[in-house]
Amino acid sequence: MTTPLSSAQQLIKSAKSVLFITGAGLSADSGLPTYRGVGGLYEGQRTDEGYAIETALSASMFRRHPEITWKYLWQIGSACYQAKFNQGHTIIAEIEKNKPNTWVLTQNIDGFHHQAGSKNLIEIHGRAERLYCLDCDFQSTAEQLLANYQQTINLPPQCPQCGGLIRPDVVLFEEMLPEKALSQLYQLLETMPFDMVVVVGTSAQFPYIQQPVVIAKQLAIPVIEINPIDSELSHLATYHLRGGAAEMLTKLWKMA
Ligand SMILES: [Zn+2]
Repeated sequence: MTTPLSSAQQLIKSAKSVLFITGAGLSADSGLPTYRGVGGLYEGQRTDEGYAIETALSASMFRRHPEITWKYLWQIGSACYQAKFNQGHTIIAEIEKNKPNTWVLTQNIDGFHHQAGSKNLIEIHGRAERLYCLDCDFQSTAEQLLANYQQTINLPPQCPQCGGLIRPDVVLFEEMLPEKALSQLYQLLETMPFDMVVVVGTSAQFPYIQQPVVIAKQLAIPVIEINPIDSELSHLATYHLRGGAAEMLTKLWKMA
């Protein structure tokens, strides 16, 4: 009997290159809360200071009150550190080894794709682990500078080189997307060298997450969606596999 799963398995088996688009649902299987952008740990709630989380994690707040922005960046970083990549990340990295022109476009800032071994990786919202100084060329990692967000320190952290303000390499609200990631994405979208697109665990609220799927649809490239619920993109999916990210990726790949 042909099911959406068996059809999707056939597609991935014969595909030479796959574009994965991943969101919070994939990291939820690692125990991270699903969040929108960097802020969703608090979605719909106010921070202790009475701000919406989007305000606390915005570029303008970071300029005026870096200690407030850092308080929430710290909690997010700490949540990322305590979790680990899961079977879903491993399978995506394995598929890239098998089909070397495979790429991952992720909204997640936890760095799990990188840790799992994905190389063709566009982290469109940055990576919480990477830190840099706003005033000089100092760069570091959360592991080196912040003991992986595990110790208590005075916030905001200071640059050991110049005393300037340190920040993680993530996109705050009101900020532009990183130039390198954007140009990589646009290059891929111009040529769209994929046989299929697999959208995993994202509600797809951002235009740059929707766009590859819209283009795939125009080019008649099949789109598989893995998501327990409907998203903004479900109407464009060739097959919608309803279920958790790690579980469905395992079924999709291991049995293909
Ligand atoms: Zn510095």
